Amino acid sequence: MTTEPMSLTLPTDDSGPDWLEWVGRRGDDELARCRTLVDELKASPPTEAIDALRLWNDAQIAVSNAASVGSFFAEVHPDKTVRERAETVAQEVQKLDTDLGLDPELYAVLAALDPATLDAAANRLLERTLRDFRRSGVDRDEATRARLRELSEKGLLLSQDFSKNIRENVRSVHVRPEQLDGMPQDWIEAHPAGDDGLVTVTTDYPDVVPFRTFAKDAAARRELVTQFLTIGWPANDQVLQDIFAVRRETAALLGYASWADYDAEVKMIGKGTAIAEFIDRITDLSADSAARDKAVLLERLQQDRPDATDIDGADVAYYAELVRKEQLAVDAQRVRTYFPFESVRRGLLEVTGRLFGLDWTPVTDAPTWHPEVATYDVGFQGRRIGRIHLDLHPRDGKYKHAAQFDLVRGVRGVQLPEGVLVCNFNRGLMEHDEVVTLFHEFGHLVHHVIGGDQEWVRFSGVATEWDFVEAPSQMLEEWAWDADVLATFARNAEGEVIPAELVAAMRRADDFGKGYDARTQMFYAALSYDFHVNETDDLTARLRELMRRYSVFPYLEGTHMQCHFGHLDGYSSGYYTYMWSLVIAKDMFSAFDRANLFDPEIAGAYRDKVLAPGGRRDAADLVEDFLGRPYTFDAYAAWLAE
Ligand SMILES: [Zn+2]
Repeated sequence: MTTEPMSLTLPTDDSGPDWLEWVGRRGDDELARCRTLVDELKASPPTEAIDALRLWNDAQIAVSNAASVGSFFAEVHPDKTVRERAETVAQEVQKLDTDLGLDPELYAVLAALDPATLDAAANRLLERTLRDFRRSGVDRDEATRARLRELSEKGLLLSQDFSKNIRENVRSVHVRPEQLDGMPQDWIEAHPAGDDGLVTVTTDYPDVVPFRTFAKDAAARRELVTQFLTIGWPANDQVLQDIFAVRRETAALLGYASWADYDAEVKMIGKGTAIAEFIDRITDLSADSAARDKAVLLERLQQDRPDATDIDGADVAYYAELVRKEQLAVDAQRVRTYFPFESVRRGLLEVTGRLFGLDWTPVTDAPTWHPEVATYDVGFQGRRIGRIHLDLHPRDGKYKHAAQFDLVRGVRGVQLPEGVLVCNFNRGLMEHDEVVTLFHEFGHLVHHVIGGDQEWVRFSGVATEWDFVEAPSQMLEEWAWDADVLATFARNAEGEVIPAELVAAMRRADDFGKGYDARTQMFYAALSYDFHVNETDDLTARLRELMRRYSVFPYLEGTHMQCHFGHLDGYSSGYYTYMWSLVIAKDMFSAFDRANLFDPEIAGAYRDKVLAPGGRRDAADLVEDFLGRPYTFDAYAAWLAE
């Protein structure tokens, strides 16, 4: 007999002390439960393999519950003491994870299980679990295990140094007030001249992004962009060399030919050399589109500078903006009048509800961490299958980007999936790119909930290979670009629906530069791959070489962009993943009828075959099951050529 699983009960009082107690208890209790279950598993392993796996699954559910609460509330709770308590929980989770991964006694118990008695899903769980253990080095001798732990600790410190050198090395240029010509008025007002009569412009995003896009003064733009691409230099050049050395040694100790092979083993792409092939393939596919749009930029530059023969990073953003404004006329001020926040939120729920056959029932009496959070129970075919929370506006101390977080990962008969969208949108009228971001992040949330009906927590929700994770969310962005879909909710104050011609113009403006953007992305992907595979004593020289090969824009003299390319640390050799997901997103989208994006049959097949299985099968198999054939690059290539 099973009882209906409940949603998480959060503290009713939104004041600090209750929450502090709750977050601490949830973290401590679940971690203690995990330790007890692991001790039991080691002390008296069940005789049946399936019972041992269930015990391991229970331990994993406990650690996952602690991890969700720790990482979510550390970023989002309005009370600082609660955020700090949650951070401690997250650190304890990480420590326990490392300890378990290097515990030979635990590994011996799981490695001794007889796979012959297990069904396919349990077999997959066992195989994946043992692989995780081997990848942390549990089966190596004691000296090697000690060295691996040392390398992992050293790697963590180096990562912290790398980000700190980027964060703290803010640079600036000083320009005369007339050099601000072209900048938005509110920006100019926020940047008065100092005692020397000069205005300081920093390399922080709120300065550098508008400045390189709008400032008419070419010399000032060049000076700032050059400083921007030199952040972290020279300190981070050595830090990077040390990070690469740690990763090379780790991969070698674990028996891999390169770090890229180690990292790619658990991704769809499978092996390191396939990354290089993928980069070259996208480079070829985007060549025509890149050349076409670059020619438009250069031609526009030559109107201002007739002797120009090429265009580089100091001018690209500025001329792309000019081309969009002069040749693809879209009035952003007009666009936003069609997207009042409340209508967009209602529209998003209606659109996704219709598409996936889901009901969203507002839960007005459920306690949350902030009054602006909206909570809904998710219904599917008359059953409650999970709960979502939308936390969509900025406030002090809250996570600054847009992301989906887990609160609870779904396990059949045990706990319902519960997820949160955390964004920082305008409360009044939204920009269209905010609407696109909302659909994107909602794609992750729907994946988390629909994929949350699993026996094994290891496969629950967004538990697919890392280079596939973005595909469902990138695909859902398409609905935010479709005139018929937008017509269901995008209305201005006069009640007029957004015109289809305006949506088409928005799309054209957005599409401009997609080819050369792909080439820039492939240059970054090549940096991330090459640096991890080929040892070199001059990173800047290698960067120049790769830029010549992959980017369509020339190197900017005197810059060392690798030193502030944060993803070299976070993504390591796998920066290609975003583009890889996009190729598959375009292919999956090709199965939909563009004239009727609500076709329930296609959307239902996608829900059941791609989202519902979570990580139970390889992503390539899920996609093949949905498309009726293996995925190809055709739809992506067609989109580039459009
Ligand atoms: Zn995403």
